[in-house]
Amino acid sequence: MSVEGLEEHKHCAVCGAVISHKDKGKPGKAYVCSEQCSKTYDKRVKKVKRIKLLWYLSTFIVLVPLAILALLFG
Ligand SMILES: [Zn+2]
Repeated sequence: MSVEGLEEHKHCAVCGAVISHKDKGKPGKAYVCSEQCSKTYDKRVKKVKRIKLLWYLSTFIVLVPLAILALLFG
């Protein structure tokens, strides 16, 4: 079974609207139906990136002292 047929049309990454025209999307850039959705998507991506960065930082801050403790007392 192939799912290639499903690639014929795209859905807007923001509102889910079907994008029927063959848009030459840039690699790594999501398909969006309008300028408004494009802005919303960019904002969402930036927010997710910031949350991920904070998550990695907090993990690092917790793990480093733990690793040091493990090295000292483990
Ligand atoms: Zn949209």
